Amino acid sequence: MNADADVVIVGGGMAGLSAGIWAGRLGLKSKIIEKDERAGGQLHWIQDVIPDYPGLELRGTDFARTLCDQAQRSASIETGIAVQKILPFQDAPEAGDLYVLETTGGILSARAVLISTGLRRRTLPAVRAFHGTGIYYTSQPRDQFKGNSLVIAGGGDGAVENAILLQAQWKKIYIVHRGAALRARPALADHIRNHSHIEVLLETEIVSVTGDPGIRGVVLSQGGKTRTVDADRLLVKVGFEAENTLLSSGGHHFAHAGSWLDSNDEQMALHSTGDMPLDSRPIWVAGDVCTPRDPSLAVAAGQACIAMRSIERYLRSKPSLLPNRN
Ligand SMILES: Cc1cc2nc3c(=O)[nH]c(=O)nc-3n(C[C@H](O)[C@H](O)[C@H](O)COP(=O)(O)OP(=O)(O)OC[C@H]3O[C@@H](n4cnc5c(N)ncnc54)[C@H](O)[C@@H]3O)c2cc1C
Repeated sequence: MNADADVVIVGGGMAGLSAGIWAGRLGLKSKIIEKDERAGGQLHWIQDVIPDYPGLELRGTDFARTLCDQAQRSASIETGIAVQKILPFQDAPEAGDLYVLETTGGILSARAVLISTGLRRRTLPAVRAFHGTGIYYTSQPRDQFKGNSLVIAGGGDGAVENAILLQAQWKKIYIVHRGAALRARPALADHIRNHSHIEVLLETEIVSVTGDPGIRGVVLSQGGKTRTVDADRLLVKVGFEAENTLLSSGGHHFAHAGSWLDSNDEQMALHSTGDMPLDSRPIWVAGDVCTPRDPSLAVAAGQACIAMRSIERYLRSKPSLLPNRN
């Protein structure tokens, strides 16, 4: 049966683009599907020179451009298309050994699938219920991010860094953190200690947001008491989590750099590959989506390499999947 690609790679960040390069090296036809209008993923969020990628010192956007150019020579990259579902095999029996993916651009079939969907920004329950404007996840473009009163949700580096960078543009900044102490690096936390117009509210939760269409205030709960602080904007900096929506499609086994994930296991625990069912048709996973607590460009590239080599071995071990190419 004809497939649209030997391997469909879901997500065109560092891991997905690296996987496309490896697919080319291994003689596999790959298609990278990226939901954003441009590939590169988190690389586009890195403003500074990346200091710890061995052998290269580039800004995030320059790194993304170089990587996309290189990947394009090995893989077909389709942007502006999101993969919504990988069908359980029993739902597409006519596809035989092929994987079938539902995307916003139609149906795709492939001999193997690699998920490299990275991270998504965390949000707050209070924000989910608010449909107006005034809630932000980034302060870019920074010179236009100004006003009277700003609430920043979070207590890590992102929250504190933004308070420091934005201090000259706001009359009052509240950092609201539910923990008992800031999680930011000590150097950053020290920077805002005793600052005249940055107020840190610890053990405080954001309950709701008032105003519609724009924000007028943020309702806070601290020690069982609620109060509302005036705010023109709320900047949410509560971290990231794995973009693992596709990993919860039941019935698949997920292989990850020498281990495998069971999608029926709520903890998504990693098992050794030795335990993987022999008749399994795994879906491979690489990059931050498997290691959300340790995001790293070098790890994403390394995992992509291991995953693509494993895919190649899998396909070549099944002559029916790669006819005339063994
Ligand atoms: C501000 C910042 C600074 C950083 N600095 C460093 C550093 O100095 N050194 C370092 O090593 N690391 C750094 N990192 C981390 C590094 O950028 C990441 O570890 C790396 O980019 C992860 O790549 P990835 O491909 O796994 O995920 P991502 O870059 O998140 O890419 C995933 C891609 O998948 C796409 N996608 C998601 N779901 C779907 C879907 N259903 N269908 C299609 N496409 C989908 C997304 O749009 C995204 O483009 C930094 C990160 C940030 C945010």
